[in-house]
Amino acid sequence: MKTGFNGLFVPGPTNMPHSLRQAMDIPLEDHRAADFPAFTLDLFRDLKRIFKMETGQVFIFPGSGTGGWEAAITNTLSPGDTVLASVFGHFSHLWVDLCQRHGMDVDAIEVDWGEGVPVEQYAEKLAADKDHKIKAVLVSQNETATGVTSDVAAVRKAMDDAGHPALLMVDGVSSIASIDFRMDEWGVDLAVSGSQKGFMLPTGLAIVGVSDKALEAAKTATCRRCFFDFADMIKTNKDGFFPYTPVTTLLRGLRASMDLLFEEGLENVFARHNRLAEGVRRAVSAWGLELCAKAPKWYSDTVSAIMVPEGYDGADVLKNAYERYNLSLGGGLSKVAGKLFRIGHLGWQNELMLLQALAGAEMAMRDSGIMVEPGSGVAAAQEFYREALAPVSSKPTAVTSM
Ligand SMILES: *Cc1c(COP(=O)(O)O)cnc(C)c1O
Repeated sequence: MKTGFNGLFVPGPTNMPHSLRQAMDIPLEDHRAADFPAFTLDLFRDLKRIFKMETGQVFIFPGSGTGGWEAAITNTLSPGDTVLASVFGHFSHLWVDLCQRHGMDVDAIEVDWGEGVPVEQYAEKLAADKDHKIKAVLVSQNETATGVTSDVAAVRKAMDDAGHPALLMVDGVSSIASIDFRMDEWGVDLAVSGSQKGFMLPTGLAIVGVSDKALEAAKTATCRRCFFDFADMIKTNKDGFFPYTPVTTLLRGLRASMDLLFEEGLENVFARHNRLAEGVRRAVSAWGLELCAKAPKWYSDTVSAIMVPEGYDGADVLKNAYERYNLSLGGGLSKVAGKLFRIGHLGWQNELMLLQALAGAEMAMRDSGIMVEPGSGVAAAQEFYREALAPVSSKPTAVTSM
């Protein structure tokens, strides 16, 4: 029998704050009641603050991030449309696969896993596309499988430099509400998120930000759609209702989630994620190991993928961590299965929680034959966190004897 808390450090689902759990421990409610819109209209408004968008609309579908991808694609594209994308991990691969299954002609650039969106290659392809055959440009802002963050603003710039009118679509499932995202400023047309990562909720909501330009494209796009149709949402959302039964419990949770995010301040949330991530990176370097992300510009503040040395199996680390220490780490997916393990550092986490993950990872690595120095990663992170955290307001009294 396992006692105590499970150390949940998979990069989604993330740890759920107690206030969110309490906000959802409520009776089910009448989603057509006269006072329901007062609640939902505020929710729509505040989601736009999270996505940093003044115009356009945010839709909340029952679903997961994958459903959000499908909503983005089927509402704005037509079968046969050309899509420019890049594959550098499990999730960027799956998004391309989803487009192909909907009949898109995807130009998917294969990139080394550990790097992100190849902006220069995008720029060349966009400049060469004089007839504007490319209808959508895909960016996986944070590739959760490899811990790689890509530069969305740079892709927007490449599109503008080429004078290209394609829609810019961003997978923000493991980045929105955790690392910087700016819908309007970056000219993003479709941004996909889900409830179980930065929003710290159970899985169950696909949250999709849509620009005015994408709403316009939805009027003529011919992909078959029903459940995810923006048009049905638009008709009912304007009065605070939904075309079918919404997940009312999760909507209450989303309210509590956004209240927490706004209370901390979005910029502080991003800074905290950066600090927690940097502590993990210090630990990895103290262990003498490498991240999957190949250069600092790719480092993700929401998840670190840590390469295990040649001849060892990352799956052993996961197994030992879970079975011996009740610690959940993320595994290597598809191409990098067994080659790495991941520590998710997004959502409701703090420094000491990360030290728990690092301590457990050290123990589990040693159990798996990877003889990192015990305490080395923990110590590196401890010292970093001590320095990086704001000092307490009163000066500590001098230590006279040890
Ligand atoms: C988790 C994740 C998804 C898939 O979301 P589901 O909610 O599992 O459908 C897609 N993209 C990224 C980047 C993710 O991290």
